[in-house]
Amino acid sequence: MAKQILILGGGYGGLLSALTTRQHLSADEASITVVNRFPTHQIITELHRLAAGNLSEKAVALPLEKLLRGKNIDLKIGSVQEISPDEHQVSLADGTKLNYDLLVVALGSETAYFGIPGLQEHSFILKSVDDANRLREHVESCIGEYSQTKNKADGTIVVGGGGLTGIELVGEFADLMPQLCRKYGVDHKEISLYCVEAAPTVLPGFPAELVERAQTSLSARGVEFITGTPVTKMEPFAVELKDGRTIETKTMVWTGGVQGNSVVANSGIEVNRGRALVNEFLQSTSHQDVFLAGDSAVVMGPEGRPYPPTAQLAWQMGETVGYNLFAYLKGGTMEEFTPVFSGTLGSLGRKDAIGTIGGNKTQLKGLPASLMKEASNVRYLSHIKGLFSLAY
Ligand code: NAD
Repeated sequence: MAKQILILGGGYGGLLSALTTRQHLSADEASITVVNRFPTHQIITELHRLAAGNLSEKAVALPLEKLLRGKNIDLKIGSVQEISPDEHQVSLADGTKLNYDLLVVALGSETAYFGIPGLQEHSFILKSVDDANRLREHVESCIGEYSQTKNKADGTIVVGGGGLTGIELVGEFADLMPQLCRKYGVDHKEISLYCVEAAPTVLPGFPAELVERAQTSLSARGVEFITGTPVTKMEPFAVELKDGRTIETKTMVWTGGVQGNSVVANSGIEVNRGRALVNEFLQSTSHQDVFLAGDSAVVMGPEGRPYPPTAQLAWQMGETVGYNLFAYLKGGTMEEFTPVFSGTLGSLGRKDAIGTIGGNKTQLKGLPASLMKEASNVRYLSHIKGLFSLAY
């Protein structure tokens, strides 16, 4: 009888697990169900562009139904509410209960608010297509409003957190602003665009030369950096900083970090700071019939430090999990997860980017980095297309 494989999440980890499993196991051997809260596979690495209207929604929201069509993979749209690993059962918010023989948890991460008062209630985030659409519409309405009222809070945008998410977003906003201001007859110089970062510089961990390049490039397009200064409080129309400053704004985008998924943290699966602990085969350390892909898990590198929660890692984990489900069911040898780091590339708006390849050894700036970044997106899309054609 076919085993039931249940895959929670249709992001990078979940989709790649599903397609890879189907490459190795026929429908007679295993039924596969993917559960996702949206009907689309979202290219979240490109959300900053959607938030600035620099990309169409259909480029970043690929219908899962279409991606999985003809592959004997069932799709269930719903929000996972509870995982009961000892009962081999998953509950969805709509009351549906799903049973499994093997479970893949690939639910991604959540925004970390670090208990900062008012932040969750009054800030925007950039974790989904809906978030990006909401943000784009809001920013445009604020600039429209500013043209009438000249209210400072309408004309001020704050990005809180200068990691890659924050920098890529602020870069897109910097390029969007002149065009938006023209549309509403606003003098571009009257609009303030801040990036607030707690650490001494933005992009902590990046080589100093690239940090400098990012700041210079973005400052030249009107971004004001406030570094070494944490956000400490958020009111409906104002951000408070640790140095006592208050910035009036109706648009605070919080890009200050991510944490494990709370459904996973509360599931009874062994976790470390909310992220599931896994062995070298990406199997839960507490439940051998539960496999993990993407940000829901924490994978320790050789120096005992966790690997960063990135799309490229999630995608590779999904493929290892897909193969290991097959090996586990067939009693074969599972594959160890050995990540390949092709590099990190961050855009600085429409025409500039920075990046490192080969563990910070080679640095890229400007056009080569922009082209590499574009190429890595294309590579991902052609990769899933390739997997699709290989699956049963
Ligand atoms: P992050 O944790 O990398 O960055 C968050 C930033 O917010 C940090 O610089 C932190 O110092 C700052 N911060 C935290 N608290 C703050 C406070 N109170 N006030 C001001 N600043 C504060 O988070 P991210 O940028 O969302 O990235 C998450 C992961 O995804 C990372 O591993 C990142 O490398 C990856 N990512 C990669 C890409 C890419 O490859 N292009 C793009 C986006 C994200």
